Order: sequence, then C-alpha cells, then structure tokens
Amino acid sequence: MSCFRPAVDQMHGYVPGEQPTEAGWVKLNTNENPYPPSPRVIEAIERAARGRLNIYPDPLVRSFSRAAAELFGLEPEWFLPANGSDENLTILMRAFVDAGERIAYPYPSYVLYETLGEIQGAVVSRIPLARDWSFPDASRTVVESAKLAFIPNPNSPSGNRWSDDELDRLVPPRGMLILDEAYGDFADAPHRGERLSGALGKQLVITRTFSKSYSLAGLRFGFCIAHPDTIAGLRKVKDSYNCDTLSIAGATAALLDQEWMLANRAKIIATRTRLTAALERLGFTVVPSQANFVWAEQAAISHEEIYRQLKDRRILVRYMKFPFCGPEQREFRDGLRISVGTDAEIDALLAALAEIVAAHP
Ligand code: PMP
Repeated sequence: MSCFRPAVDQMHGYVPGEQPTEAGWVKLNTNENPYPPSPRVIEAIERAARGRLNIYPDPLVRSFSRAAAELFGLEPEWFLPANGSDENLTILMRAFVDAGERIAYPYPSYVLYETLGEIQGAVVSRIPLARDWSFPDASRTVVESAKLAFIPNPNSPSGNRWSDDELDRLVPPRGMLILDEAYGDFADAPHRGERLSGALGKQLVITRTFSKSYSLAGLRFGFCIAHPDTIAGLRKVKDSYNCDTLSIAGATAALLDQEWMLANRAKIIATRTRLTAALERLGFTVVPSQANFVWAEQAAISHEEIYRQLKDRRILVRYMKFPFCGPEQREFRDGLRISVGTDAEIDALLAALAEIVAAHP
C-alpha cells in the first residue's frame, strides 16, 4: 500500500548531477563557477552569523530587494528572493498551475520543469526543438493552451540564447512565460529586466540565480523579477522565511560587488572561447555558447564511453541523453555538457580528451 499521491507514486524524481564529497575531482558537471565568491560575501556572512541568528529573517527580504531594485532600475516590489532559482520555479508552479492544467517547456532543456509539473499533477507538453536548437514554427501551437511556458535562456544543455522576438511568440495567450535566466549573466549582452516594461511585460517572469555568475551555488539564493501584482501573488505561496539570514547577507553583498562578478564572468568567457576551439580541433561539434558551459558532440566514440574514461581520470562532465525526443527529433541522441572551469581544469580536461581520442583506432 502506498499513501503517496498517485502523481508522486508515478514519477521518477529529478536526478541532480554527481556531487562527490571528497577532494581531487576536476568538477565540470554542474555548471558551478570555478572561482570563489567576493571576499565581501564572506565578511557579510560572518557579520550576520555574529548578529542575531535567534530571530527570524525579514520575510520580505527587503535589504536584498532594495539593492536589486537599484541595479535593475526597478522598484523593490518587482523582486521575489528565494532559496535558489529552483525554489522560485516551485513557487511559480504552485501559484499558477492547477492539477490538469498544461505547462510547456522546450526539449531538450532543463527537465526539472517537467518534474515540478508532475508533482503538481500538471499536463506536461514538451516543445520539440529543431536540431539546430531553434524553435520550429509549430512551437506556437504547443504553448497555445499552456498556463505556464518555462524557457531557459541561455538554454541548458546547449548554451545557445534565443532572441527576444522568438520568445515573444511563445508567450501563452492565456498564461505566463517564465524566462529562466540562470545563465543570463554569461550572455554577450546580459538583460537587465528591460522586457518587463514592454507590451507583454505582465505575462513575463524572469528568474535569476546566485549559483552561477556569483559563485554561490552552496549558499542557495535566487530571485525572480515580475510585475508587482505577480510578485504579490507569489508571496502568498512562498514559505514565510524562505531565505535565511546568512544567505540574505551573502547574496546582497555579492550583488553589490558587481566588479567581482564581472571579472569572473570575463575569465569564464575567455576560457569558454579557448575550450570551444580546442574541442573543435579534437573533432567535436560545439554549439556557440552564451553560458558557462558548452555542449559538445562527436560521432567517433560513444559519448558515454568518453564520460566514463574521463571519470576514471577523476574528471566529471555531464553525459546527457534525451529519451523523450519525438520521432522527428531522433537525431538528438546524446552528448557531453562541459562546464567552463579554471584554465588549469580545462587544460586537464583537454589533455585527457586528447589521450582518449588518440587511443581510439
Ligand atoms: N535553471 C536552470 C536552467 C539551471 O540549469 C539551474 C541549475 N541546475 C537552475 C535553474 C537552478 O538554479 P539554483 O541553483 O538557483 O536553484
């Protein structure tokens, strides 16, 4: 006998990337930032830890929202801080989607949307991407009856970024478009929430995270930006104290040190360019990336085998395959998503890949 809701019994659950607990790994599998966060983050957390941990944090996280408002040129009421972007995605799903209602997301992309939809009892529609990772014309039909469409931009695992025009066509006529900009800071011209003031602004929600560009995956902090009416509704759904005193202090300090974040961003983009060229020389096809990872494919050796041989050398990349591709999408088989590490980590990866490729007849 199971007491679980049928939706929970039937689902598999999301499987995050491997997180080895021992040292000595070159970890290029979960798109973390290889550089440490700003020293001001550590100072702020230490100060907060010596402060008043016996009282609850501000449920509205106003200190953070004020700082974010200044940076984005919006009012603080446009921001909803959360325990990572994943929490905001959960809040959005719970706030907008009833059992039986439809959500849509591009496939292949971030499958957590599907998992969250399953938990909620939603009908999940995948928008099949074309082989060049563009949205075919038929995508519009898939979002037609969706309450929420979730689109990561830049996309994961491909790293490409879709244009504003392409995405405007995918706003559900009677729903909301959730633009997941987890990797937004690594794009050539990062957005600053400008689109929210456009004609479709009330149907848009942008989610952002501190896990990537701000080097704070271990802190768990993200925020979404949307019209104040939307934020007010989302607040009703969130836990009262969804952000803790230490993460609020750390994330606010990180946001205020733009110089630190932008310096790491520049290093990562330079390494991304070098990694892309070197992978191409080794025979991989690489999607031009606007994120802190690249998507690489080749036909000579099985991708799973490359993943395993790298793992034997204590180098972790993400091996991904796409079981839900429709008949017309079968050419999406699998590939390797490689996070941009430090230059030394990428050198180690490239040396190992050169060996693996050379050993193959
Ligand atoms: N969106 C996308 C597209 C991601 O790849 C990730 C990281 N796995 C997240 C959201 C989650 O970010 P966070 O660490 O803020 O929960």
